[in-house]
Amino acid sequence: MSQNPQISIVIPVYNEEACLAELISRTLASCRRMRRTFEIILIDDGSRDHSSEIIRDAATRNLEEVIGVLLNRNYGQHNAIMAGFTHVRGDWVVTLDADLQNPPEEIPRLVAMAMDYDVVGTIRARRNDSFFRKISSAVINRAVQKATGVMMHDYGCMLRVYKRHIVEAMLMCHERSTFIPVLANSFARTTTELEVEHAARTLGESKYSLGKLISLMFDLLTTMTTYPLRLLSIVGGIISATGFGFGILILILRLIHGAEWAVGGVFTLFALVYFFIGAQFIAMGLLGEYIGRIYHDVRDRPRYFIQEVTGQQKVDVNPVAP
Ligand code: UDP
Ligand code: MG
Repeated sequence: MSQNPQISIVIPVYNEEACLAELISRTLASCRRMRRTFEIILIDDGSRDHSSEIIRDAATRNLEEVIGVLLNRNYGQHNAIMAGFTHVRGDWVVTLDADLQNPPEEIPRLVAMAMDYDVVGTIRARRNDSFFRKISSAVINRAVQKATGVMMHDYGCMLRVYKRHIVEAMLMCHERSTFIPVLANSFARTTTELEVEHAARTLGESKYSLGKLISLMFDLLTTMTTYPLRLLSIVGGIISATGFGFGILILILRLIHGAEWAVGGVFTLFALVYFFIGAQFIAMGLLGEYIGRIYHDVRDRPRYFIQEVTGQQKVDVNPVAP
């Protein structure tokens, strides 16, 4: 049998030997219930424990159902998923965390929903994460909604379904740092969200230290916008305008109250300094505008993404001679 499966499940794995066996058996059971052909692609993101052996073993024991993609070292969760995407063959692609915080039992319900949508996101009902994680993701979600215009409530949950063409569009993006749920939404026409269960991590530990979490937030920010670069010009403009206004005010007060009031020009100096600090910010902002454009060019995202062409194009009866 070499026909393409209908569903591809992509799971990044990094030092997850504690949960892998259970993950594989539960995911297999859940997929078999769907009565559709499927493949489970496990990406070993350079684990230093026995994860890769478990993956190899599962792939040999469940031929054509489990596929292992082993990376030489740790590249991070989102890069690992991208590596998995290069191997998907299904028409629908499900992503999932390996730690069983996202129950694999939810897959059939999500896939059923994905028949009508490009992206099916999830909202974690009764979320089992620390208070700090909840606050930070609330702030992030609000920011993404503002920047992308796509309304989704939960970007932190990786249990998601993408139609194949969305995955192909994502593979056309060449940036090194990326945040998949946000990137996917930028190519989606129709999206929806479902509530799913969210369990606390019982096996293994979170792979995100505070430092990695901050770096992930920067990935998320840069994936969606270069606005912070423009912010430099805006801040500079505000500082400069304040300095200028301050200078005018000092001039007027100096004319009203006389020379002693101005403390021998100290205030004037302040106004000037303000003005020039602002000017420097504006200059940095200008550099930022160029850097932003360079950034847009190097990541080489598709300029537009045609999802579908309908209707018949007229055949050219008089083709232009080459
Ligand atoms: N992961 C990965 N590479 C990394 C870090 C994490 O492939 O460098 C995987 C990890 O094995 C898990 C998923 O990404 O399947 C989410 O990681 P984790 O559960 O530690 O993140 P959290 O749930 O704490 O956000
Ligand atoms: Mg987790």
